[in-house]
Amino acid sequence: MSAGEPKWRGRQVSEAVYRQRIVDVEAITTLPKALRERLIAEGWRVGRPTIGQVFTSRDGTERYLVQGQVDGLTVETVWMPEGDEGEAGDTVGADPGGEGAGRSWDRGTICVSSQVGCAVNCQFCLTAKLGLQRNLTAGEIAGQVVAVLDRQGVEVGKDRVNLVFMGMGEPFLNYDNFMLAVRLLVEEVGLSPQRMTVSTSGIVPGIERFAKEPAEIRPKLAISLNAPNDEVRSELMPINRKWPIEAVVDAVRRVRLRAKERITFEYVLLGGVTDQPKHAAEVARLVRRTGLPAKVNLIAWNPGPEIPYATPSADAVETFRRALGAEGVPVYLRRPRGRDIYAACGQLKRTVEDSTG
Ligand code: SAH
Ligand code: SF4
Repeated sequence: MSAGEPKWRGRQVSEAVYRQRIVDVEAITTLPKALRERLIAEGWRVGRPTIGQVFTSRDGTERYLVQGQVDGLTVETVWMPEGDEGEAGDTVGADPGGEGAGRSWDRGTICVSSQVGCAVNCQFCLTAKLGLQRNLTAGEIAGQVVAVLDRQGVEVGKDRVNLVFMGMGEPFLNYDNFMLAVRLLVEEVGLSPQRMTVSTSGIVPGIERFAKEPAEIRPKLAISLNAPNDEVRSELMPINRKWPIEAVVDAVRRVRLRAKERITFEYVLLGGVTDQPKHAAEVARLVRRTGLPAKVNLIAWNPGPEIPYATPSADAVETFRRALGAEGVPVYLRRPRGRDIYAACGQLKRTVEDSTG
């Protein structure tokens, strides 16, 4: 904020907006009345992005179109509740409007977008089809989280909520806004960076900057590996030609991990392309060679229109998981969430189409 006022006034405002969740300048009683009146007269407004449309999955996942503050563009945010064993399906079609909707979860994950669209152009990703429309501001990134916390009635400090910066966009190509948003979420909203994970396709300069962030505000790091070697990775992720696997791993080594912290390697299983037993052996070797405390998150590819890949069979997924496990690599299978509403990994694209008709 800059309205010719001292800096600490800005803190009072962000305290009101993010901690007390005030949405009206008039109600920020920590500011003198005359100042509030002046701000209102000058057209200052506070608040957070509003949730426009809601899509509810059979499994309880909700996908939101969140209205940006700068222009008409909407961005996608996903809420994945846990603890209801997917029994929340009876809310399909209805929009209970958040508060008072009853609570069927005991913890949840918010998947946050950092850009509208993405410039990285991974061949298997639906978001890539949009190209990059624009960067989100720090307020828009943090605002998605605050909007979902509000809607779900989350009590920060009491409820277990994880954030994953794995929505639309490449966070490390919008680095300053992304990290400013994290800082807001930690310092003003009170969320722990140890419950946040940022995923990158491997933007080396971004990882190098990230490695210098203080532990108090640094989220955990996930790398979208997605391929067993450089040859396949360059096919799937053109960015690999600029920053191949070894360069990415070298940058990741600079991150000073907290006690028990691990690096996550995400690995999208594409039927016939990256899901073969020989690929599992290569991935295991690669992960071991990094020498990093690491785990692998497997994601069976989520389909999208006009993307020429296949979802691997459940058998192939299981065989791959076992093979990695047998090689001593900690491996987890990410359950697809919200596929029926295009909310799953790599499926966030409908935004712009939906909002422009
Ligand atoms: N741009 C960042 C973060 C968003 S993508 C990144 O790429 O890391 C989050 C994860 O979803 C990435 O690991 C990506 O590889 C994966 N993903 C993309 N498209 C997918 C799809 N169609 N099915 C499954 N996972 C996908
Ligand atoms: Fe961008 Fe990530 Fe999709 Fe690649 S996978 S195009 S980096 S959003």
